[in-house]
Amino acid sequence: MGIGVKEKKDIIVMKFGGTSISDTDKIKKAAGKAIKAKLSGCKVVIVVSAMGDATDNLINIASSINKNPSHREMDMLMSTGEQVSMALLSMAIQEKGYDCISLTGKQAGLLTDDIYSNAKILSVDKERLLKELGSNKIIVVAGFQGATPAGEITTLGRGGSDTTAVALASALGAKYCEIYTDVDGVFTADPRIESNSSKIEMLSYDEMLELASSGAKVLHLRAVEFAKRHNVVLHVRSSFNDIGGTWIMDVEDSDKKMEKPLISGVTHDTNQVKISIFGLYDKPGIAAKLLGGMAGKNINVDLIVQNVSENNLATISFTIKNEDLNSARKVLENIKDKLGIERIEVDTEVAKVSIIGEGMQTHPGIAAKMFDLLGQQDINIEMISTSTIRISCVIRKEKIRKAVRVLHKGFILDK
Ligand code: ADP
Ligand code: ASP
Ligand code: MG
Repeated sequence: MGIGVKEKKDIIVMKFGGTSISDTDKIKKAAGKAIKAKLSGCKVVIVVSAMGDATDNLINIASSINKNPSHREMDMLMSTGEQVSMALLSMAIQEKGYDCISLTGKQAGLLTDDIYSNAKILSVDKERLLKELGSNKIIVVAGFQGATPAGEITTLGRGGSDTTAVALASALGAKYCEIYTDVDGVFTADPRIESNSSKIEMLSYDEMLELASSGAKVLHLRAVEFAKRHNVVLHVRSSFNDIGGTWIMDVEDSDKKMEKPLISGVTHDTNQVKISIFGLYDKPGIAAKLLGGMAGKNINVDLIVQNVSENNLATISFTIKNEDLNSARKVLENIKDKLGIERIEVDTEVAKVSIIGEGMQTHPGIAAKMFDLLGQQDINIEMISTSTIRISCVIRKEKIRKAVRVLHKGFILDK
């Protein structure tokens, strides 16, 4: 298949997140893991995030200079965080006597579209990667970045190093992609807020997609989408021990299908804003115009509820991510008069709690049980949305921990 690499299955992609390489000791530990993989006979490609809070720090520096920096310059800036880690990790590996080379996203052949700060991967040109692997080097690639066909540097959206790793694993036909992070795997709830949560051994792509999209930030949603589409097996595990983590793969590939619990996990998302639009004309096409305007600005609308009052005016409420609020306000300002909007209310004190599980497809009554558990704790449900394997409720933000607690216990997930 290319220059010097005969067996696809020999290649392993290992991704280290920011907290896993936040200081020099941790970088040396990550180097040790890479060398161990190399010594087991694999060709090793590592993907790194920026060290610790480096990306946040870069964003803060930028905003102290320019409150509204251009997207291009932001990507030029943010892409440097991963470049620091790639060089340091490569040096740590070289220091232990192994041949290693670091590559930026562009050097690694990651071609993207030109949507700065949220670029999508168009293709991976493997030539350079295969050349370096062929000469027996360990490769460290800067995650979260690529370049447009015109050579402009782009980034893939916050948390995007996971997506780099999966894209490289897919392009190289790696046997699986290991995501090393600061927890032992994917848990039944965020282990930082639910101390009774436990590690899940195995998940289907669909379950992981729902977990990631409803708040389990342990994996970048687009990484899971990519993995599902290209059938890349993921192993999410700890950087700090050798315990096996969570495997994410096609359920058909797993022999544990029969052991699946009813509910696999509870997620929460506090990064939500609810926008309510009052006094809309109740006629065909209004919702499309309203939500189409949001989509046109790349704003992802999550839960949506519409009510029609006696005077035939409609109220539409929907949730978006916090960071999209300013763009959403601009869109609404532009279409306000055209749609007859009377009043707009913005509520930042909301959060979303969700339960996810393939078991709910065949077991009726799961939604009723969820609502009952929340009701017993005096938690009011403001909005609801469902998929075949997820139920989400928007509630007051201040009640989110209580909600996760009661659902985790109520659906027998406590360890
Ligand atoms: P990295 O820097 O390695 O990419 P992230 O911070 O992006 O790590 O993701 C790991 C974090 O995800 C954990 O520290 C944990 O708090 C959080 N998290 C949220 N939900 C879950 C979950 N269900 N299982 C595991 N971790 C979760
Ligand atoms: N460093 C980037 C971020 O903080 C990308 C990543 O860590 O995956 O979002
Ligand atoms: Mg991450």
